[in-house]
Amino acid sequence: MRKPIMAANWKMNKTHLEAIHYIEELRNRLHHKAYDRCDVVICPPFTAIRSVQTVVDADELPMAVGAQNMYWEDSGAFTGEVSHEMLTKMNVKFVILGHSERREHFHESDEAVNNKVKTALDNDITPIVCVGETLTEREAGFTNDKVGSQILEGLKGLDDERVGRMVIAYEPIWAIGTGRTATPDDAQETISKIRGYVREVYPGAADAVRIQYGGSVNTGNVDDLMAQEDVDGALVGGASLDPVQFARIVEYE
Ligand code: PEP
Repeated sequence: MRKPIMAANWKMNKTHLEAIHYIEELRNRLHHKAYDRCDVVICPPFTAIRSVQTVVDADELPMAVGAQNMYWEDSGAFTGEVSHEMLTKMNVKFVILGHSERREHFHESDEAVNNKVKTALDNDITPIVCVGETLTEREAGFTNDKVGSQILEGLKGLDDERVGRMVIAYEPIWAIGTGRTATPDDAQETISKIRGYVREVYPGAADAVRIQYGGSVNTGNVDDLMAQEDVDGALVGGASLDPVQFARIVEYE
């Protein structure tokens, strides 16, 4: 059985002080049984990671901290980048890789994503690898081709053991931050296809790899999305900025 994973992607929001207030509020809202049922991951900007960890550690909260990006080299002259060791030394357990905003605004290629995925897995950081199609691609019937090639390229050169440990987020680009969500059936259909693509290359990993849905997930649609057989959680942007809403999403029915 795959344990669902609910991840908050704050993107470029919240100062370190706002982050502390948020975690305190989330702590007060979440019932302890929520953590037993699913993994809870908070992905703040780099500048707030330490603040989030401080509250998580002080209150021994069973939630994990993730980063929103990471470079694949160990160290060196890469101004502005952050390495795996910088993250693991701060007890960061997850990293979002290949988010569509990074692919679009920072020109991240599948090859770059693949390098980062390997580095993360080799250093005990669980990558949350994002894939998804644009509206034009969807309307042209290319959804499966697009996510299939992102999976093949992004996961190239791995093995069943490592792929089984990672998380994939299916995020249709037209649904991110737009208020438009894939229907639960559409999310299920594409996510089961993604599991099929994984099975073709890494048969031993397909039933273990957790695949989230992301794209305007909110308190009103999370229950129906989570009722789908292959949907193993959600990557949440906008609605995760409010601890009250994110708590309700984590405690989906
Ligand atoms: C995201 O950025 O990963 C995301 C899913 O954002 P939103 O929930 O705002 O659509």
